[in-house]
Amino acid sequence: MNGIKKTNSESLFETAKTYFPGGVNSPVRAFKSVGGGPLFIKKGDGCTIWDEDGNQFIDFCCSWGPLILGHNHKGIYDGVVAALQNGTGFGAPTVLENNLAELILSRNPYIDKIRFVSSGTEAVMSALRLARGYTGKKKVLKFEGCYHGHVDSMLVKAGSGLATLGTSSSAGVPEEYANETLVLPLNDIDALRICFEESKEDLACAIIEPIPANNGLLLQDKSFLLELRELCTKYGVLLFFDEVISGFRVGFNGAAAYFDITPDIVTYGKIIGGGLTVGAYGANNEIMACVSPDGPVYQAGTLAGNPVAMAAGIAQLTECAKPGFYEDQQKRTELFVNNVNAHAYAKGYNFEIVTVGSIFWLSFAGKKSIKSADQIDGKMDGFKNLFRELLNRGVYIGPSGYEVGFISQAHTPEKLEVAAKVFCDSLDVVFA
Ligand SMILES: *Cc1c(COP(=O)(O)O)cnc(C)c1O
Repeated sequence: MNGIKKTNSESLFETAKTYFPGGVNSPVRAFKSVGGGPLFIKKGDGCTIWDEDGNQFIDFCCSWGPLILGHNHKGIYDGVVAALQNGTGFGAPTVLENNLAELILSRNPYIDKIRFVSSGTEAVMSALRLARGYTGKKKVLKFEGCYHGHVDSMLVKAGSGLATLGTSSSAGVPEEYANETLVLPLNDIDALRICFEESKEDLACAIIEPIPANNGLLLQDKSFLLELRELCTKYGVLLFFDEVISGFRVGFNGAAAYFDITPDIVTYGKIIGGGLTVGAYGANNEIMACVSPDGPVYQAGTLAGNPVAMAAGIAQLTECAKPGFYEDQQKRTELFVNNVNAHAYAKGYNFEIVTVGSIFWLSFAGKKSIKSADQIDGKMDGFKNLFRELLNRGVYIGPSGYEVGFISQAHTPEKLEVAAKVFCDSLDVVFA
């Protein structure tokens, strides 16, 4: 099949390359792992997006997760416009901050207080400082395959051999910082026990994506998370759930409620801002009392709690809080996934869509039960080919085989049936 028309996107990308490193303001947008240049998106409505060449796609990227109601949702649009008419921000408190906090805290048994920031990265960075400030300890434990934004101490990978000391995975992160982070494989209870035994005196917190969804979808055993909870409690280490992707996605109260496990610190992002820039961290009253101006852990933000962004978050979470919202999301997702998986299975393709809630991941080569990052096949040839075939047939997914896809409220059963057919046709070509 011939490729889609990309003339305008190509010329815009050439210009963008003279302005931005790699032509983009966030690396994965550059299409590097699928080849060719990115599409410049002009607009979105419902589950559909249009690019600058007039091509139309069913969108499963959904701005990498935030758009759980789809594009151009009426409630969000109205909320944002109403807020805008009063100005774009004051650097002083507004009632909208109270309203978004009330919406969240009145339903969330895991945190007493929340602090709004401007991105997921900022939430994680701030909450790590809080964990260290509260415990008076220095080291943090993270897990290989979990992503926590571009925070210095989180841009680390496991050191060689049995050492759990992290080494930096980005230039510009001093080894001294990286060494303050311990890195363990996911889902390895023995490694966990040894690490806690050896490092309990120094460990401020253990940070984890309870549903790791930034390196494929690495669904964890609940027993692993329970063991982590237990060890944290036993040794005075804070359990830090990074729910920037899972929060308000697998349920209003995220993975904490999904697994029924109480974390000590939680971060949110993506969905919380209704498509605008909001992140947040929260904990119980005692821990949050350490945050400035109440306590000694400094953290601030000129645009934090921005009223326009708060309005978008309020409109979105109001929808999410309605009875049956998440059940309906999951039902439509399962319909779509089962449809495609049944086809792949019948044809004997080495392919399966893995799913939880309204998140899905395209897993090649029979790796359904992947539970740690090192089990992922790094070649991604299958993904690259599928990506192209989907794009040519009007379906847009995130341009990387490590990224997950998202289904929004705007993905109707009818649209999902069309999309499933496109997936099946594309798989037939990829596996021909
Ligand atoms: C997206 C993400 C982040 C980073 O959030 P940004 O808003 O991109 O800074 C952090 N943690 C997790 C789990 C995420 O999915």
